Amino acid sequence: MVTGTQLFGLGVARGIVIGRAHLLAPSELDIRQYHVQRGDVLHEVARLNNAFSLVRAELEQLRTNVAGDAPAEVKAFLDLHRMILDDSLLCDAPRDLVRSRLINAEWALTIQLEEVCQQFEAIDDEYFRSRSQDVRQVVERVLRRLAGGRPSPVAPAPKLAEGERLVLVAHDLSPADVLHFREDEGGSLAGFITELGGPTSHTMILARSLGLPAVVGVADARDAISEGDLLVVDSDAGRVVVLPDEAALVDYRRRILLQGQARSELRKLRGKLSRTKDGIPVELLANIEMPEDVRDALDAGADGVGLFRTEFLFMNRDTLPGEDEQFESYARVARAMKGKPVVIRTLDIGADKVLNASARHSLGLAVDGGEGPAVEPNPALGLRAIRYCLAYPDLFLTQLRAILRASATGTVRILVPMLAHVQEIDQVLQFVAKAKEQVKDRKQKFDARIPVGGMIEIPAAALNLGPFIERLKFLSLGTNDLIQYALAIDRTDSTVAYLYEPLHPAVLQLIAHTIRTGTRARLPVSVCGEMAGDLASVELLLGMGLRRYSMNPAQLLSVKQRIFELDSKSAGRLAGRVARLHDPAQIRAALERAASGAARKRAVAVRAPARRA
Ligand code: PEP
Ligand code: MG
Repeated sequence: MVTGTQLFGLGVARGIVIGRAHLLAPSELDIRQYHVQRGDVLHEVARLNNAFSLVRAELEQLRTNVAGDAPAEVKAFLDLHRMILDDSLLCDAPRDLVRSRLINAEWALTIQLEEVCQQFEAIDDEYFRSRSQDVRQVVERVLRRLAGGRPSPVAPAPKLAEGERLVLVAHDLSPADVLHFREDEGGSLAGFITELGGPTSHTMILARSLGLPAVVGVADARDAISEGDLLVVDSDAGRVVVLPDEAALVDYRRRILLQGQARSELRKLRGKLSRTKDGIPVELLANIEMPEDVRDALDAGADGVGLFRTEFLFMNRDTLPGEDEQFESYARVARAMKGKPVVIRTLDIGADKVLNASARHSLGLAVDGGEGPAVEPNPALGLRAIRYCLAYPDLFLTQLRAILRASATGTVRILVPMLAHVQEIDQVLQFVAKAKEQVKDRKQKFDARIPVGGMIEIPAAALNLGPFIERLKFLSLGTNDLIQYALAIDRTDSTVAYLYEPLHPAVLQLIAHTIRTGTRARLPVSVCGEMAGDLASVELLLGMGLRRYSMNPAQLLSVKQRIFELDSKSAGRLAGRVARLHDPAQIRAALERAASGAARKRAVAVRAPARRA
């Protein structure tokens, strides 16, 4: 039972922390608005220039300080904020406003801020809409400098008792604020809470990559929390407990302890081969998004990379990565995995993963002299993934050549997303053959027998596996999209999220059919969607015959622990029972019953040596 005021939001990263609240001052900004004399224009412009230079230097300094082993996202955010700062819409336009309207620097900057944010907020894409938050964060930084303030809005932290840590509470926090604070306060930052923040906010992504538990989107957090309050941040449950009583604190401390013990128990499994209790080997692979994520894959002891989502190399930049840059990224992963398989998925751009406008523009100009692909009315069903690549052959061939060259540096496989039609598979294979010719003509090395596989993520593909089996070397079930397309649920639309049901019997039938048919045809089949790392589904998938799971590296050791507890025959019986159920709630209950049976056995096994002693 939890007592104390409870606040709810969206949990980020994992884990529970206890700390003292440190509130971000509501605003130290002095946004006065007044007209200036013509003779003062130069002075106002100089103030603006000076404030921009100071912020530029600040961001530069932060970037230098975080160099070393900081996650790539940290540098990427600082670069993004630097780009925003240097954009002429922000740094030139306010100067013109000062001159033309004879207004002070702060006023000009806030007028321009609203103008730019309105443009962002009109974009029909959540990711871009939420970038207006980045613009506001950068402008606030400049305004703080105009007001003669500190670079960070975070006031110096209060004194803490021995062993105590801090939880930042803010309306919004920019990635740079978090970094500033970490620098100033060393290791005392335990987590943070913000009133703003959605799933794509950069602060949230940063929290995840720094491993800082956080709860974002907690409305009115600063009204409910006072400076110095004791807080529990339970990011697993998306809950904040303000001023917990003694019983709640004891309970949370126990949970923190158990989490720590569970983590160190899991670490012991790293080097062990994953097998079921009855000795069936199961491959556990990692999903990665950027080359540097390979560190996490190795750290979790992954058997390989089962999905390298290459589109992240193409996003958030104005020019597309060339062949050499791509080759370096793919080869870096292949080399790091030292012969373990690396499945590189070709560009899955489109839908919610969009290229910057200028990158799209460059594609259009290169291909047809036009403006590049337009924004579509229904992007999840539009020009996405392999459809996009087939529409832009140069883009596709460049990537294929880069992957082929990387295949000389390790064990590389090509995975193609969103296939549904036999002619698409044939076209892909022709492109691969052409790319091989091109690489051969240049006398560059590559694996001539590189396997090409297909993602099964459209129901039509799952129901018509013949062409896939005849033409491809392996299959990978993209359950995230398979669920979206089977249930007609836009996976990015929160208003229908309650209908996104991985355990819908129709989805399970598509998965089971693909695993069974592929395995019978001796084609390796994996699952690389979120379901692979969901502990509740591990036994069911095993029972359906799955022997390759690919997931976020953070989930891998827990799944391995689960695999050790399972017996493939009883998993098969569970899959049989589930196949006869028609209601996801009943299916979930059946899976939970099976999992709690395993947990009971584990508890007995843990207690047994103590009893013998
Ligand atoms: C999937 O659809 O399950 C998948 C792994 O691909 P993505 O999530 O990148 O679309
Ligand atoms: Mg997909």
